[in-house]
Amino acid sequence: MTTSRVWFRDDLRVRDNPALLAAVADSPAVALYVLDEEGPGIRPLGGAARWWLHHALEDLRLELDKLGIPLLLRRGPAAGIVGEVAEALAAGAVYWNRRYGGSERQIDAEVKQKAGATGLHAESFQASLLHEPWRIRTGQGNPYKVFTPFWKTVSELDFRKPLDAPEPGQRYRGHLPESENLDSWKLLPRLPDWAGGLRETWTPGAVAGHELLEDFIDETLADYPQGRDRPAAQGTSRLSPYLRWGHLSPFQIWHAVAARRTATNGEAIRTYLGELGWREFCWHQLYHQPLLAERNLRPEFDAFPWQRPGQRKRNNDDGASPAARVRAWQRGRTGVPLVDAGQRELWSTGWMHNRVRMVSASFLIKNLGIDWRVGEQWFWDTLVDADPANNPASWQWVAGSGADAAPFFRIFNPLTQQAKFDPDARYVSRWVPEYAGPDYPEPIVDVKESRQAALEAYQALRRDKDG
Ligand code: FAD
Repeated sequence: MTTSRVWFRDDLRVRDNPALLAAVADSPAVALYVLDEEGPGIRPLGGAARWWLHHALEDLRLELDKLGIPLLLRRGPAAGIVGEVAEALAAGAVYWNRRYGGSERQIDAEVKQKAGATGLHAESFQASLLHEPWRIRTGQGNPYKVFTPFWKTVSELDFRKPLDAPEPGQRYRGHLPESENLDSWKLLPRLPDWAGGLRETWTPGAVAGHELLEDFIDETLADYPQGRDRPAAQGTSRLSPYLRWGHLSPFQIWHAVAARRTATNGEAIRTYLGELGWREFCWHQLYHQPLLAERNLRPEFDAFPWQRPGQRKRNNDDGASPAARVRAWQRGRTGVPLVDAGQRELWSTGWMHNRVRMVSASFLIKNLGIDWRVGEQWFWDTLVDADPANNPASWQWVAGSGADAAPFFRIFNPLTQQAKFDPDARYVSRWVPEYAGPDYPEPIVDVKESRQAALEAYQALRRDKDG
């Protein structure tokens, strides 16, 4: 009898997991998770993501235990470790669900190549996207650059129903290679322990994800088209970290939501599934543009005079250094209530409402004149849903440098946005209780003047490009 191995990555669930099903069908299965932070191009996880991962792995271990499957934890370069563990187990096969980032694909290719050389069967599956990025093309055979036609094409295609969890199988009785201790990875913050707000807000794991999905469908979905723009209300699903870590798959969410169609909620369902469409669109972009977090998708933005911490201040405004501006933004001390509320929500809970993400990102890029990559990195460090595709694609969308991006000249006015989407200031007062009092500072930049300066810089860029 052979053993087979399932290699878990961003798919920390036992239901709707084709790689796990294949491993269990074959033989006694052993599971492996590798924390690989060293390989070329690998982006180390941010602090909030590390916190989530710790708890997600504890949850996965319990779920796998119910199926009789041990979970091995190892840290280091994944391609080598996967082969090593397979050898130690004398495994006949290794299965995994695909990831789509550049370095992850590189690792997968290496594992397959090494497996081919040693006779190990290596097979990967589609589990985290509804459609494989290489299959979706325009009539001319190119990747889509515009969301609407992309989604029109994609949403009309069929895809599979979610798969059940495997039945408990035969337990592996052989010698298990050494597994590292999760605590020794030090994923949880200590000294200081800043994760109190995360613990209060989230329960990582698939069970909590499914409960949240059911609650969302029962209580929130019908009003989603209106409610989703109100940060004070629980108007969205808050499923993003569960999707990010693969506690839930898009197949599960899609079918659960679509199954609850009634005579009156068609628009709500379409709007919500369209957001899953944006997630697909972002991932397809990452597949085609592996340097999405580093390079402007529109190269004309390479010449834009963004500022970054460490640079000396240009002398045409208030004299605050870029570093001081970034610090004020990160800490929610810009004097702009909606931006400060969002940044404090992020710091406290590891999450920020989508409307506020857009406003806060726009303020950093366009009013403070800071390079979008600086904000993207801060979100990467602080979001529990920090996503290799959604995060950079969304930052590029706000900056105007991305695919199907908001035009640069569309600059959110954070004061008008607050009046429109938080009219009774419930959200702002929750996170910035002092906002209406005398101690609350004036905005660190004049919103109108800084908007004008951004537009002029953009016009100059265009003139240079055209001239
Ligand atoms: P819902 O409204 O309930 O949407 C359901 C799901 O659809 C989300 O969980 C998410 O997976 C997907 N989705 C929704 N909106 C978008 C979008 N605009 N782009 C891509 N997918 C979307 N989302 C992340 O998951 N991770 C990130 O790191 C991330 N960074 C962002 C950075 C900026 C500057 C902006 C403007 C947006 C970012 N988003 C990111 C997208 C969006 O803000 C979040 O997905 C959403 O707020 C999550 O809340 P929810 O689960 O309640 O969303």
